[in-house]
Amino acid sequence: MKKLALHWKILIGMIVGILFGLGMIAVNGGATFVANWINPFGTIFVNLLKLIAIPLILASLVKGISDLKDISKFKNIGLRTISIYIATTVIAITIGLLLVNVMKPGDGISEETINKLTETYSNSGAVQSKIAEASRQKGAGPLQFLVDIIPDNALKAMGDNANMLQVIFFTIFLGISMLLIGEKRAKPLKDFFDSLNEVILKMVDIIMLSAPFAVFALLANVVVSSDDPDLLFALLKYAGTVLLGLFFMICFYMILISVFAKKNPFWFLKQFSPAQLLAFSTSSSAATLPVTMERVEEHIGVDKEVSSFVLPVGATINMDGTSLYQAVATVFIAQALSFELTFSDQLMIILTALLASIGSAAVPGAGMVMLVIVLESVGFPADKLAIGLALIFAVDRPLDMCRTVVNVTGDATVATLVAKSVGKLGVPKPKNWDDNLREVSK
Ligand code: ASP
Repeated sequence: MKKLALHWKILIGMIVGILFGLGMIAVNGGATFVANWINPFGTIFVNLLKLIAIPLILASLVKGISDLKDISKFKNIGLRTISIYIATTVIAITIGLLLVNVMKPGDGISEETINKLTETYSNSGAVQSKIAEASRQKGAGPLQFLVDIIPDNALKAMGDNANMLQVIFFTIFLGISMLLIGEKRAKPLKDFFDSLNEVILKMVDIIMLSAPFAVFALLANVVVSSDDPDLLFALLKYAGTVLLGLFFMICFYMILISVFAKKNPFWFLKQFSPAQLLAFSTSSSAATLPVTMERVEEHIGVDKEVSSFVLPVGATINMDGTSLYQAVATVFIAQALSFELTFSDQLMIILTALLASIGSAAVPGAGMVMLVIVLESVGFPADKLAIGLALIFAVDRPLDMCRTVVNVTGDATVATLVAKSVGKLGVPKPKNWDDNLREVSK
């Protein structure tokens, strides 16, 4: 397996995992076997990636900012990043709305299917917990999101991966203050973080050695815990609409890469594919972040000054795939349950899906929580929310896997565009996990 490129190894792991999962469904007790003996290896892998996410953000962002030597550059990068993120998200939502209005996946869905889906899912704990979580988030005041970004305890913020934006805030504050005390006095701290950064990237390389086996475990588990194939089939048109939209988004990114970054899109996809495959297998942009950073910096050539800010911020606030899905799902549910949506409702969807994608956590299934808020913004009756979610629940996991791929590809694309625009897109210098192995194993 040594010579095979990483993305091929991961792909093989995924395919074998799917086949193994299908085989286990056929065997009596197979699903329990996978849950008890296979899935834990996938969970360990995801934990390993999450384990290094916060230290990586800290080390790389401090390095990125302190390398700038000039705060105005940071402002420049920051403004470009946020504007491009907003623009791509609005485009994603618009593509979603156009497709769902043209394809009308909700119109043809039979009364019988709606009843079956409602029966199966509307009272399930999973659907109810999404609604409860959404109402908890919605209860907050308009400026709460700003308050939430500023932690009252830096160490506590670092103790929870869900607080990524807080850690980013603290780290930017730290980095800027380091610039302000002058290069000489900041040097010891800078050297410390530079070294920490290298060490963590090495940890990514080492963790990635197990990626082909881990994706096997993750996908086998997805297959054995997936829903009744009949239900999946009934939602084929809806799922197809989301998938088509996600495909258009990838094409759109590739056009941007070719026109603005002047790079071959196929080369870009090849370099970035291990991160996409992991996003697909884990359904989590946050867990994929360390690999996204490693690929974008070492394999695409984006300078750390750009990637260290653009990527962690993107993982938390830029979710083009999720917002596209929210737009399609909202209109699909409205079509299926004959709930009239006016043109201004559709404009409202653009706004709330944009805000919702910023507010969605980068973890599996988060997009569905925010979907509740989008549905409520267009006046969808509260007593029908559970039915609405029940309609799309069966296909949510596979769609989550696909939208997470778009989410991370969007982040990588924007990092590349911003880097190009500020002259920070260089020649990639990939490092291997065992570069210094010989010296330390003498
Ligand atoms: N799983 C997605 C992510 O981590 C979020 C979502 O759409 O549910 O990017």
